[in-house]
Amino acid sequence: MQVLQVSAEIYPLLKTGGLADVTGALPDALGAAGAEVRVLLPGFRAIRDGISGLRPLAEWVTPWGTRAHVLSGTWRNRGAYVIDAPALYDRGGGPYLDEHGKLHADNHRRFALLGQVAAALGSAGLDPGWRPQVVHAHDWHAALTPAYLHHPRRPHPRAATPVGCVFTVHNLAFQGVFPSATFADLGLPKSVFHIDGIEFHGQVSFIKAGLQYADRITTVSPTYAHEIQMHEQGCGLDGLLRKRRNLLSGILNGVDRAVWDPATDRAIARPYGEDRVSRKAVNKAALQRELGLATRTDALLFGIVSRLTEQKGLHLVLAALPELLERGGQLVVLGNGDASLEAAFRSAAQRHPSAVALRIGHDEALSHRVFAGTDVTLVPSRFEPCGLTQMYALAYGSLPLVHRVGGLADTVVDAALENLADDTATGFVFDRFDGAGFGAALRRAFALHARRLEWRRVQRSAMRQRFGWGAAAARYVALYRSLLHTAHDRATA
Ligand code: ADP
Repeated sequence: MQVLQVSAEIYPLLKTGGLADVTGALPDALGAAGAEVRVLLPGFRAIRDGISGLRPLAEWVTPWGTRAHVLSGTWRNRGAYVIDAPALYDRGGGPYLDEHGKLHADNHRRFALLGQVAAALGSAGLDPGWRPQVVHAHDWHAALTPAYLHHPRRPHPRAATPVGCVFTVHNLAFQGVFPSATFADLGLPKSVFHIDGIEFHGQVSFIKAGLQYADRITTVSPTYAHEIQMHEQGCGLDGLLRKRRNLLSGILNGVDRAVWDPATDRAIARPYGEDRVSRKAVNKAALQRELGLATRTDALLFGIVSRLTEQKGLHLVLAALPELLERGGQLVVLGNGDASLEAAFRSAAQRHPSAVALRIGHDEALSHRVFAGTDVTLVPSRFEPCGLTQMYALAYGSLPLVHRVGGLADTVVDAALENLADDTATGFVFDRFDGAGFGAALRRAFALHARRLEWRRVQRSAMRQRFGWGAAAARYVALYRSLLHTAHDRATA
């Protein structure tokens, strides 16, 4: 079965969040489950530099008249397509934001092109040597793919079998919404700018295209798949998701052990495993030294590795910081994002240099050292589609303290007495998203830490968790298979 995976990011070439970890790990996992996967990516500089043997495959002229080239090359022994359009992709800043943190003004064009090329590879035979049976598009950046498959700009070759399309929502809050005037650039029929199409309160919504036209919709945890069908977390799309709920499922992300295994991790001071958890102390001391914290072995060391945004619930941490420090705790924050959150943590670090450390920026190696060196990882997100950091924290024996939502609810078991009794506890989970809820979980963490043997047992349970990509890949492959039948039935109906 041939599958084309379409995304804006891929680890390790280009990453702003969990999306890249998923799209980076899936091809190998799907390959092991029997699928032949190729990837399609926009030609950002980091991506072009990381894909070998790029050569021209086809030319593509966008509806607004930009001439782009589709290149084909190799990434980790598998086929990769890259869209060469320097005017759109080769510039400063990140993939979505410019150097000043503002959205690139032509994002609708940059990512419409991604959907156009994906659909052309799927149904128009853009690569005469290879054609996917299923196109798997990720997040709003690739969400126009199914719309273009439904409304092809070039007629399908007559003999071609239809291609199935899966759309995965990694975060419903990022939607790719643009002014109505941008619709003219997309090259889609006028009828598509409609409430039953991609129109969203008078604007163009890329993510709605994915939800509306894909044959199957997935999201990255079972609980989030339920939550987004309800008003509170539906981001205005819950009605559409309820309508299409029979096609919607949640498939939990996995942990790539080749990258996230404390026993083989080269980024950390001292590798360790479940049987050598005591070695974590070496990593803790190294992290404290690296970040200028007091090297106190007894201090309960909390870590945050996160985008610093409202979603992540970090105001709860800031509010509880006086208590955390009073109880003798320390805090490490690695992240970047909202200026106000950066400033608040910066000021805390300046006021308490031996107990609070802040590193602004994206630092992959340091993130490994934070998981390895901390005792607790804080993920108090308001909502969390899957969340990978708490899974990495589990693997590294840094007990996650999380809000009971989305993938956090699916992956962490609270250290309540009954769970401690049957050895299933792996972290701290709070229900009420407020200071009282977070504060109680924080106090549970301190209380458990005072009982060293029990703490160690919970750490071992945490490290024994295996959220493998194998299980997720098997579910994706089953989903793809079901589509082959649907597509065939459609073609022969
Ligand atoms: P999201 O996708 O919402 O950002 P996830 O928990 O799913 O959240 O994934 C976040 C990914 O980004 C994880 O791999 C995490 O380790 C990484 N990450 C977040 N912030 C940083 C940072 N400042 N430096 C390095 N890695 C980071």
